[in-house]
Amino acid sequence: MLALPLSWPLEGRRVVLIGAGDWLARKLTLLRRTPASLSVYTPDGGTFDIETEARWPEVEDLHGATLVIVAFDDRSKAERGAALARAAHLPVNVVDFPDLGDFHIPAIIDRGSLSIGVATGGTAPVLARETRRKIEAAVPPSEAFLADFATRLSPSLREAFANVDDRRRVWEAVLDSPAARLAREGKVEAALELARKDIQNPQPRTGVVHLVGAGPGDPELLTLKALRLLSEADVIVYDRLVGDGIMDMARRDCERFYVGKARSNHSVPQDQIHALLVEQARLGKRVVRLKGGDPFVFGRGGEEVEALKAAGIEVHITPGITAALGCAASSGVPLTHRDHAQSVSFITGHAQAPAEKCEAVFGSEGATTKNDGEFDHNPLQLDWDRLAAKNHTLAVYMGVHTAQTISDKLTAHGRDPQTPVLVIENGTRPNEKCRLTRLSLLPDALRADPPQGPALLMIGEVASLYTPTAPELGISL
Ligand code: SAH
Repeated sequence: MLALPLSWPLEGRRVVLIGAGDWLARKLTLLRRTPASLSVYTPDGGTFDIETEARWPEVEDLHGATLVIVAFDDRSKAERGAALARAAHLPVNVVDFPDLGDFHIPAIIDRGSLSIGVATGGTAPVLARETRRKIEAAVPPSEAFLADFATRLSPSLREAFANVDDRRRVWEAVLDSPAARLAREGKVEAALELARKDIQNPQPRTGVVHLVGAGPGDPELLTLKALRLLSEADVIVYDRLVGDGIMDMARRDCERFYVGKARSNHSVPQDQIHALLVEQARLGKRVVRLKGGDPFVFGRGGEEVEALKAAGIEVHITPGITAALGCAASSGVPLTHRDHAQSVSFITGHAQAPAEKCEAVFGSEGATTKNDGEFDHNPLQLDWDRLAAKNHTLAVYMGVHTAQTISDKLTAHGRDPQTPVLVIENGTRPNEKCRLTRLSLLPDALRADPPQGPALLMIGEVASLYTPTAPELGISL
């Protein structure tokens, strides 16, 4: 290590800042998030959102302070500030001229009483910032509530458990309890009350199920909350729409249940999934039911919530980026546009299958769905007049097998057969493939070259805005 990242409590301390312009403003923003009292000297004048003295401080002005921060873009002024701090025997940080100071301020992830610093000894600040970005994602903002909760709970725990080992075990249990969950949601008072009660008379752990949206495939499109839940889960129940790389984010030692289609082309029936979720939660486990896209958009999330509630299981929902939004972004085609689309509908191309065939509904895209013929007897029940309106975008989920019906119905209800259609296959994934066709040509195009992965049909004038982009090489500055 080139430097030792230290942590300096600032409660009841005074920090002196000497500087000018943006350099000073940035440090002021940072220091004002701490409890320190600040004395600010601005020899060059200027206005700041805090009272300042427009002069150089005297050495005596620095007495009794704990740190000095000097922030000028001019080296000679920075040297003068550093010399003053030295004369007062105070450690000094000199912004932008690390060689002039005694300590550096690391890149900081601020989570309330939990703060994380990333230090490179002043040699690679951009790398420090990049690393901070990664940690920001791994330590969600709700961790600040948890830190506040832990700080305030600490005295009660110390009092109740004198032995360090006991205390450590209790801490582990508390941080993994419903009280900690409440705290993360910002309900710190209620969390403290519950935790103090739990400490008095410990209860067996109760399970919980989180329905979590995994987004369309690209792991970076997970929400911060989804990432946290994956890293905390005891059990993950997932299906085949969950993109590669996403399960890598899960806790290493969690149990994984795959309920998507196996080679035999059968997925686990929905009632068996319900039973599995209930059973695992009753064992006191934290269960994540991970679903492609968003759990409440053609994801059967509603049915799972009902089943869990009926069984008396605590259930929470975390949304995900649904396929239509992911595909629009990655293909560069906006779903709405001032000139080409004033409204958008998300529709399913999948007809309601008879109850005994329901298992086949799961992500029934791809070339091998067995119930192709069923749709002849179950025509799509949609309001075609409304959907056929011009300047209206249709994002069709599970529409590959009913493309013929969709195309026929829309044209019969007045939609122009020349309406452009973009077929986005494996949207947001490394193997994404987009093709542009026309409403009348769509069924043949799909028959000639059936999609090999999940595919979304984007029907509407906006599709004409699609322009294939060539990958760029090199570093552009
Ligand atoms: N809950 C999911 C949708 C499940 S239905 C969501 O919100 O996205 C399954 C359908 O979603 C697929 O048939 C396909 O039409 C669409 N889909 C899911 N992931 C996709 C992807 N990466 N690219 C294109 N379409 C996708």
